[in-house]
Parts: sequence; C-alpha cells; structure tokens
Amino acid sequence: MRFDGRDYNEIRDTEMKIGVISKADGSAYCRTGNTIAIAAVYLKPGREQSNLKVSYRMLPFAGEERKGLGLTRREIELSYIIAKALEPAIIFEEIPYLTIEASVEIIKADAGTRVAAINALSLALAHAGIPMKALVGAIAVGKVGEKIVLDLNKQEEDYDSEIIKKELPQYYEYYGEGKAVDIPMAMYKNKITLLQLDGSIDRKSLLEAIKLGKDGIKRMIDLQKIAIEDYYF
Ligand code: ADP
Repeated sequence: MRFDGRDYNEIRDTEMKIGVISKADGSAYCRTGNTIAIAAVYLKPGREQSNLKVSYRMLPFAGEERKGLGLTRREIELSYIIAKALEPAIIFEEIPYLTIEASVEIIKADAGTRVAAINALSLALAHAGIPMKALVGAIAVGKVGEKIVLDLNKQEEDYDSEIIKKELPQYYEYYGEGKAVDIPMAMYKNKITLLQLDGSIDRKSLLEAIKLGKDGIKRMIDLQKIAIEDYYF
C-alpha cells in the first residue's frame, strides 16, 4: 500500500463544489486530499477577439514551508500553463468582445496544485456560462520508485529510496528503488491540453502512466459533472 493507504490507481478523497463566491460570475472549489483550490471567474467587456486570463497564486501558508508574499516565477509560469490547458476547450467564437478573468488561489498545497486549479477553473468557467466543447479534467500521474501511481501526494513527490530505505523500510518494499517522476496532465474529450514531466522515465512506463492518467481524468470529469448536478438540480 501507498503512504496514505491507497492502491496504485486510486485518487485521493476529492470534493468539488460550484457557486462558492457569490460576487463572481462563476466560481468553484476543488479539494483533492490536502490540496485545496478556489477559482473565481469574472467576465468583462473586451476586444472583438475574446480571451482568457488566468492568475494562479499560492497562499503564503498553503504549504509546509512558508511562501513569500511576492508573485514567484513558478506562479507566473503556472498561470500561463493553466490558461493554455483550458483555452482549447472554450468556444470563443460564441462569446465575442469578452475578457474572461480567472483567478485561482491555492489555499492548501500537498502536491497536484496545478491540476486542482484546472479542475476548479473548468467548473468555474462552466458556472459562468462560458460555452465549452467539454469540461477539462486534470490529474497528476507518475512513477514513485518503480511503481506507476495515480494522483501523487507531496510525500510521494519527494520520494527518495535512499532515505525511505532507512526510515520507512516497509514503504521501500512497496515503491522500490529510485526517486519520483511527476506527470501533470489535463484533457477535454480525448484531447490532451497539458502534459508535463518532472524527472526521467522510460518510454514503456511513460505510456503506462499516461493510460492511468486518462482513467484518473475521466474520474475527475465525472466528479465535475456531479458538482454541476448538485448545484442545479
Ligand atoms: P504542483 O503543486 O502542481 O504539484 P509543483 O510540482 O511545483 O506543483 O509543487 C509540488 C508541491 O510542492 C506543491 O503542491 C506544494 O505542496 C509544494 N510547493 C511548491 N512550491 C512551493 C512553495 N513556493 N512554497 C511552499 N510549498 C511549495
């Protein structure tokens, strides 16, 4: 079993909700284990060519180590990446002269914050009535030691067999030799809009991980649909 008792193909306990910020045009909450994202979408008159602007931020007390107050390079880059993961699903032709301003705040961080942000934003966009080809689902998959696993938590992302072997030998038996490879993914329908890789992995494991990631994304999209149903019906 994994550090938190899950099987290799299990996602963390996940909760999604829409309509959590009354003043926003669209909003949503996504919690996956100990990672929490809150997203708000505001619609503003814009140029003929509509566009999506995303701001991803992590609160100073979100993680184990306190983060400084200033906007980091990581936050700027993730804001851009998250926008690129969502944009292809939006039908901009149907909403001319609109700027979609989306902000997503990471309240608690235990790995997988960019994917939690994408799930929350997909729901917030739907809640704001933005026409979309489909909901965008996201999850991280990866390899911890020698095991391909779905939805890594921070303890797994930080895995190092040299340390675990000495400190938690029972987990070394499960995960095996090596460090962790983290692969955040996002998809709508059968199209991949985000695929990143942190670490190094062989081709066979990568293909296996992507397959597992697709199953996880389906699960995330199902949870988004349930959140929409709970809100409207
Ligand atoms: P993701 O959150 O999408 O997995 P990273 O791989 O960059 O993105 O980060 C992994 C985890 O490391 C985060 O979820 C968070 O728990 C922690 N982390 C990253 N950057 C910081 C930071 N600046 N301050 C505190 N914790 C951080």
